[in-house]
Amino acid sequence: ARRKLIAGNWKMNCLRAEGLALVGELSRRLESAKDPVFDMLVCPPATLVAPVADALKGGKLAVGGQDCHAKEKGAHTGDVSAPMLKDLGCTAVIVGHSERRQDHGETDAVVKAKATAVHVAHMTAIICVGETEAERDAGKAEDVVAGQLRGSIPQGSSAANTVIAYEPVWAIGTGRTPTNDDIAAMHAMIRRTLDGLVAHPESVRILYGGSVKPSNAVEIMALADVDGALVGGASLKADDFWAIAESC
Ligand code: 13P
Repeated sequence: ARRKLIAGNWKMNCLRAEGLALVGELSRRLESAKDPVFDMLVCPPATLVAPVADALKGGKLAVGGQDCHAKEKGAHTGDVSAPMLKDLGCTAVIVGHSERRQDHGETDAVVKAKATAVHVAHMTAIICVGETEAERDAGKAEDVVAGQLRGSIPQGSSAANTVIAYEPVWAIGTGRTPTNDDIAAMHAMIRRTLDGLVAHPESVRILYGGSVKPSNAVEIMALADVDGALVGGASLKADDFWAIAESC
């Protein structure tokens, strides 16, 4: 059975005091939870990875990056490499988030190179895919997502080093979500497509992301092939993020 993963993507939010208060509260609850059935991960902005990782050292709450450069080091002003994140205590890095694809023109090839860098640094790549509203309206959602998977998943990917996050672009930060049937159909299609791209596709965790909140988490987490959530806005409030985790 696949253990659920509840991951928080803080995006460009939180100054130090807020971020430390948030993980302090979450880790307190996670450490006192009896046999939690989920893994929990927070992905703070790059500026807070070090203090957050220091605060959580040795505990159950894991820390990840939101992005990394594909190169290990070099003349890339402003960028952060996978080994740098690993060095701070990260165990995972989100790559190919739609905001990176849109704001920074990241192609599938770029995302694949970044995922490779994450693997080489011995961390888990959380590879994001998802269609736009126009693509869904045109009936192309499954083709778009399958193409992103084929283009973004590197050789050598396995359940041990790779998580897929399905995030329909039109559901991010909008309060809108696909129907349960649409989520289940897309996750089933993703798992079929993983066959041939990764070893043991049945063990790979596929997260849903896009307007996940306490009020819809129970039904979404119960869907077949939904192995957790990648949460944006609601991950910034300890009560909401914890409630989503408890709905597993
Ligand atoms: P929201 O949960 O704010 O819709 O964001 C989802 C997301 O993009 C997580 O990566």
